[in-house]
Amino acid sequence: MTKAQTPDGQWLRCDGCNEILYRKTLEANFYICTRCGHHFRIPPQSYIEILLDDAELDELDAGLSAKDPLRFPQYREKLKQARQKTGRADGLGYGRARVNGIPVVFGIMDFRFIGGSMGSVVGEKVARSIRLAREERTPLVIVSTSGGARMYEGMYSLMQMAKTSAELGLLRQSRIPFISIPVDPCTAGVMASYASLGDVIISEPGALLGFAGARVIQETIGEKLPEEFQRAEFMLKHGLIDMVVQRRDLKDVVARILSMLLPADREETGEPGSV
Ligand SMILES: [Zn+2]
Repeated sequence: MTKAQTPDGQWLRCDGCNEILYRKTLEANFYICTRCGHHFRIPPQSYIEILLDDAELDELDAGLSAKDPLRFPQYREKLKQARQKTGRADGLGYGRARVNGIPVVFGIMDFRFIGGSMGSVVGEKVARSIRLAREERTPLVIVSTSGGARMYEGMYSLMQMAKTSAELGLLRQSRIPFISIPVDPCTAGVMASYASLGDVIISEPGALLGFAGARVIQETIGEKLPEEFQRAEFMLKHGLIDMVVQRRDLKDVVARILSMLLPADREETGEPGSV
């Protein structure tokens, strides 16, 4: 999102068509450009407002914070800055919530927190959210936006890929659905682990999704890549994700999928979902 024109940031330039748009108009339109349909990046609170009933997330383990196991230069300073900027202890929030009345465990990543990177805390919270979904037999929904593993934690970060994937294996055995919503941008270690393991994977129009950057791949394979490479629509066409959904429709689509995956009598009996 580019701040443009006025000092108070009331006008924003669209990255899709360069149109200058009034913030209030954008806000009322889910931060989708009224001219070209470009989906602006939005903070976690906006997804909470868009997806969850009464914009309520009963957040758990909010105080969980990273150590500096490798004493990586400047990591502590980076953490401090990210905490100040976001008001969060680390880059992911999770807890219980409802989507059109359906109870879910919901997780949401904050890209502003060191690029949404997955260190030990983000990985642990993803794992805990999966475990909670399994214990309570509640579907899991996670919105992810990330540049990948957090290099300041080295191997501790990389281990989170295996940990979250293993937890999802157990969730699958318990037949509890997981809807993964990777949004712009979602790449590398996150896209290569839990975010790609949803029973249903939904993204937004134009979102950048993938593993390595296009330039790196291009140099490695020595071929020119198509222009739309790594965009959500391209990933959909090639079977890596299941749906590309307009932001304004996200909540209804998620609720509809969950109601299809869960048995009709679930609300009354609280019985486990059978998918
Ligand atoms: Zn536009």
